Amino acid sequence: MKTFCGRANPTTGAMEWIEEDENYDYHQEIARSRYADMLHDKDRNTKYYQGIRAAVSRVKERGEKAIVLDIGTGTGLLAMMAAAAGADFCYAVEVFKPMANAAVKIVEKNGFRDKIKVINKHSTEVTIGPGGDMQCRANILVTELFDTELIGEGALPTYEHAHKYLVQEGCEAVPHRATVYVQLVESSRMWAWNKLFPVHVKAEDGEKIIVAPSEMENCPGVPSVCDIQLNQMPSSDFTVLSDVITMFSVDFSKPVRSASTYYRVQLEPVRSGKAQIVLSWWDIDMDPSGRINCTMAPYWAKSTSAFQWRDHWMQCVYFLPNEEPVLQGEVVYLTACRDEYSLWYKLQKPREEENKADVRVESPVCRCQAHLLWNRPRFGELNDQNRTHQYVRSLMKVLKADSVCLCISDGSLLPVLAHYLGAKQVLYLFFYLRFSFFFKANHLEDKIKIIEARPELLTSSHLEDKKISVLVGEPFFTTSLLPWHNLYFWYARTAVASHLTSNVTVLPQSASLHMMIVEFQDLWRIRSPCGICEGFDVQTMDDMIKNSLNYRESREAEPHPLWEYPCKSLSDPQEVLTFDFRKTVPQHCLSTEGSVNLLRKGTSHGAVLWMEYHLAAGISISTGLMQISNEKGNCEWNPHCKQAVYFFSSVIESETLPDLPSAVTYAIKFDTKTGEIAMDFKL
Ligand code: SAH
Repeated sequence: MKTFCGRANPTTGAMEWIEEDENYDYHQEIARSRYADMLHDKDRNTKYYQGIRAAVSRVKERGEKAIVLDIGTGTGLLAMMAAAAGADFCYAVEVFKPMANAAVKIVEKNGFRDKIKVINKHSTEVTIGPGGDMQCRANILVTELFDTELIGEGALPTYEHAHKYLVQEGCEAVPHRATVYVQLVESSRMWAWNKLFPVHVKAEDGEKIIVAPSEMENCPGVPSVCDIQLNQMPSSDFTVLSDVITMFSVDFSKPVRSASTYYRVQLEPVRSGKAQIVLSWWDIDMDPSGRINCTMAPYWAKSTSAFQWRDHWMQCVYFLPNEEPVLQGEVVYLTACRDEYSLWYKLQKPREEENKADVRVESPVCRCQAHLLWNRPRFGELNDQNRTHQYVRSLMKVLKADSVCLCISDGSLLPVLAHYLGAKQVLYLFFYLRFSFFFKANHLEDKIKIIEARPELLTSSHLEDKKISVLVGEPFFTTSLLPWHNLYFWYARTAVASHLTSNVTVLPQSASLHMMIVEFQDLWRIRSPCGICEGFDVQTMDDMIKNSLNYRESREAEPHPLWEYPCKSLSDPQEVLTFDFRKTVPQHCLSTEGSVNLLRKGTSHGAVLWMEYHLAAGISISTGLMQISNEKGNCEWNPHCKQAVYFFSSVIESETLPDLPSAVTYAIKFDTKTGEIAMDFKL
């Protein structure tokens, strides 16, 4: 069955109706899921296996039959481990139908049909007793329902229900317990993801400062977790203010309560500073003794040398509602509050701590609007002084005393910069009138006029019959997922063409698409088939993922923030397409083909693509590669942007890698009608 879905094209801005197959969402879910990454997580898998074997042995030693309940079985992996470890019977529950179907196939293929019953239900729907889904309650509870925040995927309510209805009292649980750890740090890099720092602008008539509205100062931000690959954060980017502290533990072998609660620890800072950020991670003990431990601890907090890369579990960054000065050795209280699915933190001094009424800290809700408009990388980008400086320099070059300046970009500070740098009039085309709170805070509400219209609906009366002499954009749009989606600026520029003076200055004057062939240190795993996992054949899953990835005729590039995923360049960066914003979008396609030489030894996992914007003569900014930092080819990426990654399927699929190709040929086509970029690479 086909359905039509309406959406605004992220690049062209046009409303379009796309025919979506009913399986579209399902294929997206499978293709973008983390199943492959979990199956590659050797550390996780071996520890689960050890824990499951130990639990089955303990039950057998008591002379009982081992009846296992695996909630969220996915591929069936943990249920198969239990069966192989000698369990008498396993109930494998999976709510997501395509995965439940896959689990049935995988279980059969591995010869466990008689030992494992796959139940395609949410665990809270599972029935017990004669004629029910399960004959009787289980005495071993196995699950892997954790996300980076531990509880974000609903582990607590699922455990609460399972203990009440699906497992015996005193059951064994794998994992046996989870522990959440925290560390208090000061970090202007991370703090810049949640607060807007004052922006200093050196204008001709003195220095101007753009400030955040006071509502923003005390706003706790949005509740969604900030999960990152903390191991990519160099130790020079934060200052540790406390030791690693155990925040709380959950024993999964006993009844679990999911209701909102809080945990409080007393800590003595190891150093004086500004407490801003709580870094957090967890570990799981697979057995009661804690000998089989799987930890997410970052590099500086880990004692084991065995380092496991994984993307399905990372580390969390929590922002304290306000920065708090703390003194070395002077006690403070850190409170973790949680509801069923999320956590947030609060820091208190001893006197405040006595005030118990203060304990019920509300879950963070953005009151200032800014956190709804700017996500965390965008905050980081706006706080990037070097970047702002490039815009200031370019605006100074192009603005004149009589400039009528129109800005097109979402949630941008460019209108304020343009005003301070001397534009006669500044207009801002932005479909979010509430952004005026920002101009009000800077007393600019009558200096910058927000026009709440789509570019194609701009009229001369909006412009008070004036023509635009300077058109500016960052460009940045919240609807952009891939780097070239910000070419929407070009389409908007084309739509407003009749309102521009004949000698209009457009800033940026042009953009270019760049490409480089890379070898990833780890990211390749997320697209690499697994084959055999801990002795179990999971190829069915590989095939499913591959099928979903190829579901749309052309394979697609995917956005990844590459500062979190180290890679080395195998080729020089190459400019492949240019887009001239001084002219309107042409009718014809822009295409290019060629070949890029491979300069270093390595496995060509894919091509990385990014945009560079040429703001004014001699001033460019890159949303991708910042530099290649050493002769090994290690890359430094723009930390605020996601880059596009096009994985080469052939290399990843072959087990023994082919000999180093000396060049990669490419064909890249930008369809100006659809705004899509099609690519083809040959190794
Ligand atoms: N156990 C597998 C897969 C873990 S992923 C492994 O370790 O490799 C978690 C799976 O649990 C997902 O497939 C999700 O759909 C499923 N799930 C989460 N909560 C569930 C619940 N309460 N009942 C049934 N399935 C659930």
